Amino acid sequence: MPIVISKEKTDTGLLQSVKEISGVDVAGCLQCKKCTNGCPVTALVKVHPSEIIRRLQLNAGDSILNSDLVWMCASCETCFSRCPMQIDMASVMDALRIISVKKNAAKQKGNVPLFNRWFLKTINMFGRTYDLGMIAAYKVGTSSYFQDTDKFPMMLQKRKIALFPSFKADKKYVKRILKKKR
Ligand code: SF4
Ligand code: SF4
Repeated sequence: MPIVISKEKTDTGLLQSVKEISGVDVAGCLQCKKCTNGCPVTALVKVHPSEIIRRLQLNAGDSILNSDLVWMCASCETCFSRCPMQIDMASVMDALRIISVKKNAAKQKGNVPLFNRWFLKTINMFGRTYDLGMIAAYKVGTSSYFQDTDKFPMMLQKRKIALFPSFKADKKYVKRILKKKR
């Protein structure tokens, strides 16, 4: 499918910011689409990895920030391992998420930025994730109190989720890492 970018939406600033944050130069992308063909979330998103890179190359501007893949990317690095040009897509997606939050541009269904924020907050608080706390905060933030609650007893029974956070991690050490990354 051809990529259409309206002239008034072109903006070199985003490409530059992505390069500065991620350290990745997307100029070498050949559009071979090996990343897209190997990506486990391609079937779930409207904008594919190779298209994000192409849009960046063409200075498509901030419209990229609201692409579904930016928030659906699982940072699995499959694309990176397949890319003949060694383009680190997961780092590009990280950079796009950071810029998206800064510019308040994320409007994805389900409020993934809120989920991300609480994911990091629980790591900051306990030194590792606390799934139940994170889910509770997310549900309050999205008013989705009863969605998927039927799965909770089974997850508890199979020990896929814990009632209480773990206190085994070295919190100070983790806090230091998070502080450095800010
Ligand atoms: S695999 Fe690499 S070179 Fe090929 S389209 Fe994806 S980013 Fe571009
Ligand atoms: S890192 Fe993201 S874009 Fe790359 S293959 Fe994994 S999910 Fe897809």
